[in-house]
Amino acid sequence: MKQILAAFAFVLLAFAAILELYGAENAPAGNAGNYPVIEEKKVLESVKSALDWLKRHQGKSGGFDIDNYMILCADNSCVGEAQAPYFDVGATALAVLAFLNWPDPENKGEYKACIENGVKFLISLQDNTGRIGPLEGESWFYNHAIATYALCEVFARTKDANIKKNAALAVKFGIDAQNPGYGWKYEPRGGKNDTSVTCWMITALNSAKNAGFDVPEQLFIDALKWVTRVTASNGRSGYQKPGDIGSYL
Ligand SMILES: [Zn+2]
Repeated sequence: MKQILAAFAFVLLAFAAILELYGAENAPAGNAGNYPVIEEKKVLESVKSALDWLKRHQGKSGGFDIDNYMILCADNSCVGEAQAPYFDVGATALAVLAFLNWPDPENKGEYKACIENGVKFLISLQDNTGRIGPLEGESWFYNHAIATYALCEVFARTKDANIKKNAALAVKFGIDAQNPGYGWKYEPRGGKNDTSVTCWMITALNSAKNAGFDVPEQLFIDALKWVTRVTASNGRSGYQKPGDIGSYL
C-alpha cells in the first residue's frame, strides 16, 4: 500500500510541479528569480508525452489495470513488479484528472475519449450506496475519494446530467462517511482518522462545492480540527499523531 500511495503522490506532485512551472511565466517580475528558467514548449511536450503514455496503457474498459497494464505495452518497454491490484479505480481517476487538465485551446479533443471512457469505468463500479470501487484492500476509501474528485471535476467542465447524478451520489457517500467532528479513514464513520484520507476527501468535496453540489461548511471546519490536532508545534503535520513521520512536509 505504501508503494502505491507513494506512486499516487508522485503522479500528483509531478503534475503540480509541471503546472507550477507552466504558470511561472505569469509570475510577477519580482519573483522571477524564484523559478527555474524553462521553456513553455518543453513543458507542454513533456506533459503531452506523459499523457500519451497514459493513453496507450488505458484498457478497453476505460480503466487502468494497475498490476497488469504492461500487457498493453506495444514495445514491451514497461517492466517492473506489479503491486496493489485494488487501486485500479484510484489510478483511473488520477488519469482522468490528468487528461482533463491538458490545455486544449483549439478544441481538438485529443483526450476526450480517454476522459469519457475513464468516467464510464468509474461509474460502472459505483453501487447504489454511491460508493465507487469494490471493497478490496483495507484502504479502498482512497479509490472512492479520488474517483469522487474526478467525477466532480468532469461535471464542472461538462455539465453532463448523467455524470451529475453519479457525482452527487458519490459526494453524499463521502459526506456520510466523515467521523463526526473530525475527518476520514478507511472505514466510513469508523471512528479513526488519518491525514491523507482526510485531505483527499477535502480535495474531493471542495471540488464538489465548486461544481455546485451542496456541501455543508461545517464539514470543512471539522476536518480542519483533525489537521490542527495532528500538527505539531514546529508546524509539521502528522499522519495520525502530531508531527508523526507517517506523512509530513
Ligand atoms: Zn508500456
